[in-house]
Amino acid sequence: MKIFKTKFAIREFLSTVRSQKIKIGLVPTMGALHDGHLSLVAQSKANCVITIVSIFVNPTQFNNSDDLKKYPKPLEKDIQLLENAGCDILFSPEVDEMYSETEDWGYEVGPMSNILEGKFRPGHYKGVTQIVFKLFDLIKPDSAFFGQKDYQQFLVISKMSQDLNLNIDLIACPIIREADGLAMSSRNIRLSASERNKSLALFKSLEFIRTNFHQLPIDELLDRANLLFEKDDHVSLEYLKICDMLTLEEIHSKKKQKAIALIACMIGETRLIDNMILS
Ligand code: AMP
Repeated sequence: MKIFKTKFAIREFLSTVRSQKIKIGLVPTMGALHDGHLSLVAQSKANCVITIVSIFVNPTQFNNSDDLKKYPKPLEKDIQLLENAGCDILFSPEVDEMYSETEDWGYEVGPMSNILEGKFRPGHYKGVTQIVFKLFDLIKPDSAFFGQKDYQQFLVISKMSQDLNLNIDLIACPIIREADGLAMSSRNIRLSASERNKSLALFKSLEFIRTNFHQLPIDELLDRANLLFEKDDHVSLEYLKICDMLTLEEIHSKKKQKAIALIACMIGETRLIDNMILS
């Protein structure tokens, strides 16, 4: 695996690759890799000739400086995992390689910036679109692979791609879970043993909604799923909603549209998100 740390070096390398009309796949990540990330690498390898993974803990998408400070950065371990997964290129720049001090980002994210993750993490999608645009512009992949785990992020990036005519095939890949159902996340390693136990409430609530979706009205589904989060000072539910899969507007009755349940919850100091497609 080749490792590049500068835009200049990866651009130089890719200019020769591109002249061979080889299909390039990009998997953007923030590192601390787990099987969820590696499933995206596998998808890229199945669809493209060259797979590039980026590891960059993007400061502009963090609305909580403590979360940014605590974000794990096990680069040597990540390199080993990527080598074993057959990744061709790792791009892992430092912050000052990607940002100048004075720069601004003008893309208007739109309504998605005010709901769900956008509401609880002000400015988050501004930062996400900023870095993803930079990576797309630098690498110019044919395809880019994202996890359904960050479903709203996938919708936001899809819209940006359409708005800006980026002409990149965006592929959403399934959520990879631990054996007991917890969605894999780089933040899971921060959970204590008792928090790890409590974190299962996210999966259980989504699974309850999914299995009862056709039997119970939406209000009752949410009321009963909410009960799983009560009476624990250590667990604080930020949102649990059932939404239209395309717009993420909340739905209150079941119509023909496809629905998805989305959740965000603080377990102690760690913020976890998850979702499940319902219909
Ligand atoms: P992150 O490093 O958390 O920014 O994630 C990088 C990419 O991996 C994003 O597209 C995520 O949606 C995806 N991802 C994270 N966790 C999982 C998971 N458990 N299953 C599948 N994809 C995931």
